[in-house]
Amino acid sequence: MDLNKKFVGVVVVALLVSVLLVRGCAYYKHMQPGIDIKVALNREDVMPLVVLGSGPAGLSAAIYGVWNNIKTLVIHGPMPGGLLTQTTTVENFPGSNSILGSDIIANLQNHAQFLGDKFMKDKLSKVDFLADVVTKVDLAQWPFKLETERGFTIYALSIIIATGANPKMLDVPGEQEYWKRGVTTCAVCDGPFYKDQDVVVIGGGDSAVEEATQLARFAKNVTILVRKDVMRASPLMRDRLLEYPSVKVMFNVDIKKIVGNDGGVTGVQVYNNKTKQAIEVPAAGVFLAVGHSPNSDLFKDYLETDAQGYVVLKDCKRATSVAGVFAAGDVEDREYRQAGVALGHGIEAGLDAIRFLTSIGYNPTFAAQLEKNTFNVETTKLKVGDGIGMLKTVVDFKREVEQQAGLVMIKCAKQSCPPCAKMAPIYEDAAHKFADKMKFFELIYDDSQKLAEKLFVYQFPTFLIYRDGKLAGRYHGSMPQADFFAFIEKFIGNQEVVDIAPFDGDSGQA
Ligand code: NDP
Repeated sequence: MDLNKKFVGVVVVALLVSVLLVRGCAYYKHMQPGIDIKVALNREDVMPLVVLGSGPAGLSAAIYGVWNNIKTLVIHGPMPGGLLTQTTTVENFPGSNSILGSDIIANLQNHAQFLGDKFMKDKLSKVDFLADVVTKVDLAQWPFKLETERGFTIYALSIIIATGANPKMLDVPGEQEYWKRGVTTCAVCDGPFYKDQDVVVIGGGDSAVEEATQLARFAKNVTILVRKDVMRASPLMRDRLLEYPSVKVMFNVDIKKIVGNDGGVTGVQVYNNKTKQAIEVPAAGVFLAVGHSPNSDLFKDYLETDAQGYVVLKDCKRATSVAGVFAAGDVEDREYRQAGVALGHGIEAGLDAIRFLTSIGYNPTFAAQLEKNTFNVETTKLKVGDGIGMLKTVVDFKREVEQQAGLVMIKCAKQSCPPCAKMAPIYEDAAHKFADKMKFFELIYDDSQKLAEKLFVYQFPTFLIYRDGKLAGRYHGSMPQADFFAFIEKFIGNQEVVDIAPFDGDSGQA
């Protein structure tokens, strides 16, 4: 009997412990992190929720922020829209038989914007997008301090890290030397340069298959170099790729060196680890697809990360080791790394951030008090000498452009267009730098479709240059800042009409 009692006691205690352990996750949300929210009223440029990164995780987090009446700022990062904008068709995104990666991003951004505009009446729940890159963080102080490349300092009550991952490099001789002279990580961006030439793809995962599929449309021969005797890519994608007669796979090869000459890459030296033979595979292009590493360097001094740099999550949530900082997507996901998963994790992070804000006393009354201290993308633009006028109608165009002497530039953009977002800060910097030489305007297709069509603009961003009211040049796509400045200087220095520039670079479609 006594033994039975003891046994029942042990079972009851074990049950209680396990219930407490399981409930431990749920209890977290009731914990007060010991933050005095009033401190935030002493700061300027505050944001209740700042999302770092604009891929699927970041944008779904922003949708949930704004949907829950939390004013949210998304900072795009160096690649607006993230890696999805570099893929073509995605066929395993739930709910779509086939969709472009860039369309997934555009839909998410539109959704966040739509909800922001819908709730904007009370100004509390607007979503803002800042085309900028965070260069420094201080997560030891609260509100958390963020500094950006364009010189803004923003204080965040809560942060969602959705900075994604970057393609890994191989670290073999020749890789750095021929980087962007034949060595690249993006077939969507660079594939067309290798029309009718031999290329290799290195790696055996889904990215390698995706890169090779893209290249098979242009290149003469595509050789996939795999280090083991098996590819880990999904069999369906792999088999479909291998139907292309121009695609072949070499198994069991270690990459030794990327070789080339003044013209760029000419081949890859490999060593067959089964036959023990060394050979050179001729190639004009080398596409690396050897996995990704998380973009977490900025946070490593403050947050727990694992040996590979993935942000470590706590409390069965999207919480990190710092209360109020959450993470979602490829920066913390070492396992699945799928757009759909990142999207779901972004939702979780959004909800966790809202619970955190509620737990420290953030509510509509406090939000109203904080309103005057809030970071405002529109007014801060002036700090960097924006100087960009807005063209909305044909009448605006006639008055500001056709009837003006001198040089005028118009940037034609769309709201949800990653290359447009990429060019936004570069255009603002150009407007600042060349303010005394040229007038700068912007036309947003979504608001001014009629004018865009009158100017024959159907791809975004498109830059139009007018001299004395007449079209002098036209370019569509994105380009690095130095090239864009050089492009402008050509018009400033040259009184002749410059030929209409051909397409070069990425662009969003109407
Ligand atoms: P993976 O980590 O899946 O694959 C990396 C590949 O590179 C592996 O084959 C690996 O070889 C190889 N590799 C790594 N280091 C070296 C090296 N030093 N030399 C030679 N080969 C090397 O990365 P992916 O970027 O392909 O995929 C990441 C995630 O994204 C996956 O979950 C994938 O499913 C997903 N994804 C999904 C897509 C889709 O569904 N449309 C498209 C692209 C990615 P080994 O196998 O020997 O380790």
